[in-house]
Amino acid sequence: MLREFRTLLPYLKKYRLNYLLGLAFLVTVDAAQLAIPQFVRRAVDDLSLGRTGEIPGFALAIVGVAAVVASGRFLWRYFLHGAARRIEVELRDRLFDHFMVLPSSFYQKNKIGDLMARSTNDLHAIRMASSMGLVTFVDGVFMSAAILVIMTARNPRITLYTILPLIPITVLILVFGKMVGARFKRVQELYSKLSDVVQETMTGIRVVKSFVKEEVFAARFSGANDEYRDASMGLAKIFGFFFPFIAFLSGLTTLILLWAGGGAVIENRMSPGDITALLAYLEMLIWPMIGAGFTVNMIQRGATSLKRVNEILDEKPEAADHPGTLRIVPSCGAPADGTAALEFRSLTFSYPEAREPALRDLSLAVPGGTTLGILGRIGSGKSTLLKLLPRMLEPPEGTVFLAGRDVRDYELETLRKTFGFVPQDTFLFSDTVRANILFAAPDLGPELFDRVTAISAIDRDVNDFPAGWDTIVGEKGLTLSGGQKQRVAIARALAADPEILVFDDALSAVDTETEERILKALLAWRRGRTNLIISNRVSTLRHADRIAVLEGGALAQYGTHEELLALEGFYSEIARLQALVLDSAGRSRHG
Ligand code: ADP
Ligand code: MG
Repeated sequence: MLREFRTLLPYLKKYRLNYLLGLAFLVTVDAAQLAIPQFVRRAVDDLSLGRTGEIPGFALAIVGVAAVVASGRFLWRYFLHGAARRIEVELRDRLFDHFMVLPSSFYQKNKIGDLMARSTNDLHAIRMASSMGLVTFVDGVFMSAAILVIMTARNPRITLYTILPLIPITVLILVFGKMVGARFKRVQELYSKLSDVVQETMTGIRVVKSFVKEEVFAARFSGANDEYRDASMGLAKIFGFFFPFIAFLSGLTTLILLWAGGGAVIENRMSPGDITALLAYLEMLIWPMIGAGFTVNMIQRGATSLKRVNEILDEKPEAADHPGTLRIVPSCGAPADGTAALEFRSLTFSYPEAREPALRDLSLAVPGGTTLGILGRIGSGKSTLLKLLPRMLEPPEGTVFLAGRDVRDYELETLRKTFGFVPQDTFLFSDTVRANILFAAPDLGPELFDRVTAISAIDRDVNDFPAGWDTIVGEKGLTLSGGQKQRVAIARALAADPEILVFDDALSAVDTETEERILKALLAWRRGRTNLIISNRVSTLRHADRIAVLEGGALAQYGTHEELLALEGFYSEIARLQALVLDSAGRSRHG
């Protein structure tokens, strides 16, 4: 269990001064508290003998000690809670940085709600463990040891009887720790599940509403919420039993003291002041005892939560760069030695969970400065092929080459900057249209901005946007049409001026006339550079220099538009079908 705390070690080291000062003040407060019964004892003894001369002195001393206790409490809280809050923030930063380097596959395996719960709820439990857990631990050990020493020094026999109930209390605390650990783990898991349900419902709210499934989702949430309540209640019940029971057992110590000590006072073997002081110390002993229970509980929760956070931190970041990685963005224009800009060599690729490979023995070269079109049915492996290039998926060694070098030899950042991607299902951030276009090229000048927005044909839509280029889109703003989104995404990719431009069916929601315009302008602008364009429209593909047809993950056909048209096969078949559709649509194409 304590192994999980290794993650906190560097932070505890960093804030060791805070911790040392905090603990010093904590012990000072404890020691000062221990002095109070001594003054009470002497005052009571004086009173029982009828002497009052020194009483005001004792009273003043008690007030003085109380002042020390008050300021000491403020100071240990300041140092210990301060350090714990800072550690929480830094650990959360570290977690987020780690989220940024985890591969896409990690996000396919984990639910967003769960990850959010771990970065908030669990970090809260870790903070409690690294402040209050420590405080109650030190407090408990120091106070109970000191009190036992003081009591034994003055009345060894009576102390021995009195502390007998402490043995079952200790056993109870250990059992309690185990029970809390298991239950708390369940509570945190159910909290994650609750976050998942909320996150998924909100993300899919349009689908939920359009299929009138609100009640189903409300019931699903309600179920998760009830489960969470039951688990939390299970945890609270242990507390509800534990603390009163401890208080009861420590009440027994008072009973024993009155019985054993009372006799001693009557027989004059003990002064009235002594028994008053002992009662005060016993009263003080209850808190560290309960505190020990708290410690066990908080350390357990902290360990459980740290385990959940460590699970993420232990996830391997994507493709660690080994020394000697290439850090130069390769020129993929038209290398003099004829090296292909891109090449696949007998590439076979399978997804980890899949039974069949998504790509089989695929060999294909894309000469620099040319445009490759890719056609294939849904599921034929087109997107997979493109994702292997920037290592969104990790290709096997010696299968995917960029400018003559294995893509695995490049530094990841260099590699990814070589490509400008327009993915199949694009994502725009909740920001202005302008900021979305400038996402990868913040310093783009106004001329180039006009140029890329003209090529992607998004410029004519700007008049329809309420605030022009400064219109906010995405979750918090205007909802763009599918075609508008695609064109913003194209402008974003063009703005980065990548060596290799990659379209994954990026024009599917744009009408054919606009598509024609975009492609003409685009290919003119990209002359002499390399482009990959997935499309299922022959009207798009015929602009490409070469076309590859994928079937079931394998390369079925390869050639120019004219060559493939002349051959019997998937390409000419699709071309015929689409020509028929175009003919029947005639001039009534919508714009
Ligand atoms: P396309 O883009 O041509 O429609 P994909 O490359 O997306 O095809 O998919 C190729 C095959 O790989 C399909 O059979 C698909 O089900 C499978 N596939 C795609 N993504 C994953 C994934 N993340 N895990 C497992 N299988 C996948
Ligand atoms: Mg696809």
